[in-house]
Amino acid sequence: ADAYDEECDYLFKAVLIGDSAVGKSNLLSRFSRKEFRLDSKPTIGVEFAYRNVRVGDKLIKAQIWDTAGQERFRAITSSYYRGALGALLVYDITRRVTFDNVKKWLQELKEFGGSDMVVVLVGNKSDLGHSREVDEEEGKSLAVSEGLCFMETSALENLNVEEAFLGMINKIHQITS
Ligand code: GDP
Ligand code: MG
Repeated sequence: ADAYDEECDYLFKAVLIGDSAVGKSNLLSRFSRKEFRLDSKPTIGVEFAYRNVRVGDKLIKAQIWDTAGQERFRAITSSYYRGALGALLVYDITRRVTFDNVKKWLQELKEFGGSDMVVVLVGNKSDLGHSREVDEEEGKSLAVSEGLCFMETSALENLNVEEAFLGMINKIHQITS
């Protein structure tokens, strides 16, 4: 039977946030469909994808929401965050401004997100080391000071993508069970 037809023990909602063009949609398509889309276009309206994950003897359906372009206009609404147990807060290691804006995203999370949300700070595009503007250590230390998990990823080369999503899902499971 198709994995999507299996009975699930839990349904978790998680959201992707971060500046435009940091790679959120490609991280999600990697995780949910195991592919990278070179021509990914920002779309209109909220999008989400599912993936079933086995944690111990439980089957978890992870529902991951993607902004579909509203982040451009700082127009993500509270309904986007409602009920979310986790967030991947993504920046682009080759554009410092996207790292500087992490503070703004954390502010928004405090305002709209649940108090015990599991947040993973993700420095994406680690394959572009030659144009790096944010050191890995800076990401790590921000994560430590804000109490977040941290990971550098490459959606292009499929590095650490599974680890980032699965780490978040495992942690949510620990907290909620
Ligand atoms: P979003 O606006 O945050 O959803 O970003 P997208 O997923 O649409 O990606 C924005 C651009 O960055 C696209 O041109 C992607 O091909 C590119 N991109 C995304 N992830 C990576 C990555 O890990 N490495 C590289 N080199 N490019 C990436
Ligand atoms: Mg997108």
